[in-house]
Amino acid sequence: MTAEDLQEVWGDLVGIPADPPAMRELCEKCRRPKAVCWCCHLPSTPLVTKCRVVILQHPAEEKRCLRTVPMLSLGLAPGLCHVYKGKKFPLQRHKGLEELMCAPNSVLLYPSPQSVDLSDLPRLDSGGYDSYNLFLLDGTWPQAKAIYHSSPLLHSMKEVKLLSTGNSEYVIRTQPTEGCLSTLETAALALSILEDREDVREILLKPLKALCDFQLDHGAVTHQSKEFLIKTKTYPKLIGKRLSRLLKGVDTNSDDSIEHDTCLYNEETQKS
Ligand SMILES: [Zn+2]
Repeated sequence: MTAEDLQEVWGDLVGIPADPPAMRELCEKCRRPKAVCWCCHLPSTPLVTKCRVVILQHPAEEKRCLRTVPMLSLGLAPGLCHVYKGKKFPLQRHKGLEELMCAPNSVLLYPSPQSVDLSDLPRLDSGGYDSYNLFLLDGTWPQAKAIYHSSPLLHSMKEVKLLSTGNSEYVIRTQPTEGCLSTLETAALALSILEDREDVREILLKPLKALCDFQLDHGAVTHQSKEFLIKTKTYPKLIGKRLSRLLKGVDTNSDDSIEHDTCLYNEETQKS
């Protein structure tokens, strides 16, 4: 290690706060840092729909930086959005889920060969059901597939798909948050079709639209861009590559170690 390297390492060490940074002030409702809270974009009165949404969420989904299911559950009136967590469903701890899955008016949004267009379901109040329970799998596509294959009861449900996905502008603009964004968008679109109300979709997407606009205003290409996280104070302290390698016992002159900065106090390590 050269004297220059050593000086840089010391510089990095001096820059580390002795104590972990103070907890960022979190919004009590959405539990996001106040700087990036979207609660003011929620409807002033939660939306009352005839249909219910049931989210079967892969455990990894909850840990994501940007989750959109809270936007859905806070946007809808209490009792209209149920979230169950697991890798297969139903488990004993999923109270009331089995009954919901077996209800004749429950439908699973899943693009299987036997799924029918959601728009072809009998309209509400037209001699058919007066509400639907709309089931969605929340996770990346491989996670959703894994949930589906390990949950035989799901296979006995009526499966539906969305043929007209409409404007998916927000999903594209906030890549690569594949999966979690589409859960809100999918639910909002499906509900607006089932309820025959376009305003349902507009209202539910407002927090997501606000979040996307905020990110774009801050020059963020993805929600995990370091610059964005630093600006929004969700990325407290980065350590340099050299120090990071030194701490890991990697030769600081070798270039074959991973070429990215290490986050010293990232969200995951704070939790554990
Ligand atoms: Zn909030």
